[in-house]
Amino acid sequence: APVIGVLALQGDVREHLVALAELDVLARPVRRASELAEVDGLVLPGGESTTMSRLLTVFDLFEPLRERIADGLPVLGSCAGMILLAREVLDGREDQRSLDALDIVVRRNAFGRQVDSFEATLDVAGLSDGPMRAVFIRAPWVESVGADVEVLATVPEVPEAGSAAGRIVAVRQGAVIATAFHPELVEGDRRVHEEFVRVVRER
Ligand code: GLN
Repeated sequence: APVIGVLALQGDVREHLVALAELDVLARPVRRASELAEVDGLVLPGGESTTMSRLLTVFDLFEPLRERIADGLPVLGSCAGMILLAREVLDGREDQRSLDALDIVVRRNAFGRQVDSFEATLDVAGLSDGPMRAVFIRAPWVESVGADVEVLATVPEVPEAGSAAGRIVAVRQGAVIATAFHPELVEGDRRVHEEFVRVVRER
């Protein structure tokens, strides 16, 4: 079975480990470069991207992680994880670093001007069995994508979404998938993690 790590510096690490444990993989927390070297795929959890950026530097993980992703390591990022994967972060902290693994510009806390947190039902490209429940918590959205980025989901036209309707909230580029929402928080629907495991197995 493939070994899938969850970056365990901060954030909702446990929820991702629980989600992965339901699939046919070996799920492990990753806190150091030696652990990173052993995984076939990595999840960057939700949490606080500014803190994770700082801890990646403090733990000497930023460069090793950037290099492994550049070498083709499959990665799934949710929320703060999406921010960490982006080429450019708007409304980030000045010293915030991102991995440039997705050719996207993200805006941090983008929904905040309308609503801090909300749930919606989304159609996600490539997932069978219908739309999925998506939980947004101080979420980013994707302002723009490069030519090689596939848009997997946008915010539906629902009152809770306000003027965020139509914004891009899930993307894929090669073996890197990111969602602005938290698939790890929706028990009973592991389709995003399953899709990620499929990508890992393909590599
Ligand atoms: N607002 C957080 C950040 O900027 C992300 C929120 C989340 O991951 N739930 O990193």
